Amino acid sequence: MTTGIRQDIAELLDQIPLIDTHEHLFEESFRVSRRSNPDEYPLPPNDFSLLFFNYANADLISSGMSRIKVEQLWGKELDVSAKWKLIAPHYSHIRQTGYGQAIRRSLQILFDVDDLNENTCEIVSEKIHNGVHPGFYHQIMETARVAYAHVNAVDPDGWLPIFRETEQPELLGQDLSTVLLSTGIHVERVERWYGKTIQNLKEWHAAIDHAFETYAPRAIATKNQCAYQRRLDFEYVSDEDAAPLFARFRQDPSALTAAEHKALQDHLFHYCVRKAIEFDLTIKLHCGYFAGTGSMPLEHVRQNAADLCRLLRLYPNARFDIFHINYPYQDEAIALAKHYPNAYVDMCWAWIVNPRASVRFVKEFLTAAPVNKLFTFGGDYRMIELLPGHASIARHGLAQALAELVEEGWLRESDVPFIAQRIMHDNAAEVFDRERTLRNQCVPSCLQNKSTGEA
Ligand SMILES: [Zn+2]
Repeated sequence: MTTGIRQDIAELLDQIPLIDTHEHLFEESFRVSRRSNPDEYPLPPNDFSLLFFNYANADLISSGMSRIKVEQLWGKELDVSAKWKLIAPHYSHIRQTGYGQAIRRSLQILFDVDDLNENTCEIVSEKIHNGVHPGFYHQIMETARVAYAHVNAVDPDGWLPIFRETEQPELLGQDLSTVLLSTGIHVERVERWYGKTIQNLKEWHAAIDHAFETYAPRAIATKNQCAYQRRLDFEYVSDEDAAPLFARFRQDPSALTAAEHKALQDHLFHYCVRKAIEFDLTIKLHCGYFAGTGSMPLEHVRQNAADLCRLLRLYPNARFDIFHINYPYQDEAIALAKHYPNAYVDMCWAWIVNPRASVRFVKEFLTAAPVNKLFTFGGDYRMIELLPGHASIARHGLAQALAELVEEGWLRESDVPFIAQRIMHDNAAEVFDRERTLRNQCVPSCLQNKSTGEA
């Protein structure tokens, strides 16, 4: 009986396409161009080491592999078998984590290879290299049963452009990044993008206005990840108080104290929130766990949810998308989604950060907060080859969570199809207006000038 329910639910979920609310994927044409020009940027070559680019490299380092060795994986000196020898003892320590499982499931789904080892590292590398060709993004997303993805663009040099004019808008909805405009204020890059010098706060506001007027019609959401650098306690700072701070910052960024920097960022972030409301864009915010290793100040991270309450109260007409379930403080995220009509929770990245905690989270969310406020998948990758594995973990975890809720008497089996359809697909389809973004796509002349959008 139990097996029957589990199997039925797993089969049901297999049929539902996922909307992927968060990726950092490069443009497909960039990946294809790197086949013949692999040395242009310090990125992994098209061999098995690419599977560790993010995020399994962090688990390798955490397990004790040196950063220098990890970087050798992506360098030019070692051939594939030498890379395998370097990684093998460390890989054995991480292949059961969410990051490791995403690699193994992707290998199975894409290449029919069970795992990485000394016998498979060459063939996997060959398959990765040969798999990169025009159309491969569509193929991989179809294999993963992902309808389409949202992309928070990261340029190959690591910078976050304000917006990326994508060549594949039907597959890759684009976020409008507010980082350079508000919390990571970068005058030179914004001026280069804007094509004008900016002398005062009023002109900076005009640049933000221009960014929203230009990109919001085809942006899927706004995105900001300043939680890596600061707390989310954005206070209201008036134009009058912010103007002299901006003037001094413009002269010399080092002239501002830490408190003054914060006040200027707070002011500009509030300005961007109001623009997002004006253009009806959902505000995506990194919350919780940090990518990488050796840097996460949990004393700040644990305050993310509490810090957000001020914004949630002040802007009832905004929609805030709390990323990564605010892990490891996911209880607070559930409390926000339950209490605030304008708070949504996003499971992007969470399934591979901690798969079992994510199962627990889904069960607790669904029995506490409204079902329409949860988005259950985002791969959070730059390399699309890992997407099928992550999506497979998400489907496995969702099926387990829903089956357990039925078995434990919290749901009826007949409740499951509606809930699954909502959390895997319909919630994201309703909240993020993809049709608008497609209606407002650039004409070809705009694509030719796309570098102007990449600050
Ligand atoms: Zn991300």
